[in-house]
Amino acid sequence: MIFASQQSPSHDSEPMNQTTRIASTAPDQARLQALEAQVARDLELLNLPPRNWVPAIERDGVAVRDVVVIGAGMNGIAAAGALIFKGIGNIAMLDANPPGQEGPWCTTARMDTLRSPKTLPGPCFGIPSLTFRAWYEASFGTEAWEGLYKIFNRSWQDYLGWLQRVLALPLTHEARVTRISPAQGLLRLTVERPEGVQTLLARRVVMATGRAGAGGLDLPGFVDPMLFPDLAALAPLPIDFARLKGRSIGLIGGGASAFDNAAMALEQGAARADMYVRRSVLPQINKGRGSSGPAYYFGWEALPVEERWNLVAYMYDAQAPVPHETVKRALRQPDFHIHLGTPTHSARREGGQVVLRLGNDGAREVRHDFLIVGTGFVVNLDRVAELAEFAQHIARWQDRYTPPPELRRPDMAAFPFLGPGFELLPRDGSAPPELGLIHLMNYGAHASHGGIASDIPGVAVAGDRVATAVLRHLFLDEAGALRRELEAFDEPELEGTPFFVPRDDGEF
Ligand SMILES: Cc1cc2nc3c(=O)[nH]c(=O)nc-3n(C[C@H](O)[C@H](O)[C@H](O)COP(=O)(O)OP(=O)(O)OC[C@H]3O[C@@H](n4cnc5c(N)ncnc54)[C@H](O)[C@@H]3O)c2cc1C
Repeated sequence: MIFASQQSPSHDSEPMNQTTRIASTAPDQARLQALEAQVARDLELLNLPPRNWVPAIERDGVAVRDVVVIGAGMNGIAAAGALIFKGIGNIAMLDANPPGQEGPWCTTARMDTLRSPKTLPGPCFGIPSLTFRAWYEASFGTEAWEGLYKIFNRSWQDYLGWLQRVLALPLTHEARVTRISPAQGLLRLTVERPEGVQTLLARRVVMATGRAGAGGLDLPGFVDPMLFPDLAALAPLPIDFARLKGRSIGLIGGGASAFDNAAMALEQGAARADMYVRRSVLPQINKGRGSSGPAYYFGWEALPVEERWNLVAYMYDAQAPVPHETVKRALRQPDFHIHLGTPTHSARREGGQVVLRLGNDGAREVRHDFLIVGTGFVVNLDRVAELAEFAQHIARWQDRYTPPPELRRPDMAAFPFLGPGFELLPRDGSAPPELGLIHLMNYGAHASHGGIASDIPGVAVAGDRVATAVLRHLFLDEAGALRRELEAFDEPELEGTPFFVPRDDGEF
């Protein structure tokens, strides 16, 4: 038997013409409807979803949600779907963005295609008709699938939107959670909507808030904040590239995002782009790909703390390489220049330009019309507005484990130390008990659970893990009520047979 490869296609199969950011043809609506009928049939065959089993509760006449999922990107979808498929259907899902703009894919992601192989199934809950491939083949045909090299950003976004719809997720867009507060054994969410501020009560919250959701974007201390917004931008935020036409762009950072922003600026008419990279050699091997698959997805969290930390440090040191497609895209531009082994010492404003001082001693000076800072994301829960009432009480890795000096990695030590179901854990006994009702299912989970809550390959594992943990917690909370319900359950199985004994005392 031949199994489909989970690996990326070889460089040789990379077509030179897949350079647009959108699939060019419209989806075939008739075939999509047929797929949706197949999804309904598959769910029927699997008896999904089961009935809701969690007893409904109210507080002061206000209905309480079993779970509120914050974020409707792929991780939010994976969590919400897994909850519903476990009979936890009294949930709400909130996303700050309008429909079709959840996550980075069609707004700030500037690559041509995803880096992941097209064969990844996506958050499909093990159901073939919910896979990316099923959706793509229905939308564009099997020939288009065969010809597809890697997934277009737009296709991935559309697929996720389709999942939201066919799973009938209870999603409210343009609903930004600004604060999560303890509320006597529950959580109160403050939600900003176009029509005003609302509150919502929940027994549990899943924060599927994305790459920036555990601390935001990194602005290195050597970059003068006064450069923003007219002379500088952070790479993961919206940038008006039309404004950069004919101008000279400096970029700090050597990751995929810096490359993509340089290429995008040049493709849109910038005069030149100079990328300043501290490293003298770019990372070569993608250890994330090397560790993708069931072993690390399910095993990482089971490792003893010191071994997990050793792995965290190993992955941190290896760093992820830039996809070769991204590098080639930038190199196709004659005005792209990369300066390896060139750390930026400072970036400041002078005479309407950006002045960069380069090298550790800042001896060399260059000028640009605009600066793009591509230094990525930070994990620091003190900076997460939604968690302001809990942050000081949340356990971080540095609270739970002191590594030997050679394995100290301060950036990673700031990651939260999460429980087996992505729950926040208390730093000490002074933490509000409601802290453990929050599940952090974003990049901040990396040190505790590996890559499953941040990248596409492990998304279904993370969704199921968080939903299973929520189920277990709710079951324990409701054990008394569920037992009473069980005792009251009295459908006589043997009625109609000679062995039927009618009950006379209210008990069997
Ligand atoms: C540019 C870029 C390219 C990437 N490419 C790949 C790739 O090719 N392959 C791969 O495996 N991974 C990739 N990743 C990593 C990862 O897969 C993505 O970051 C992905 O978007 C993570 O999904 P998510 O659901 O966790 O978060 P997101 O898709 O970011 O969704 C989070 C959602 O939460 C919402 N939200 C956040 N805060 C709030 C709030 N307070 N209230 C309400 N809503 C809120 C946001 O509006 C957003 O829609 C990439 C990441 C980036 C940034």
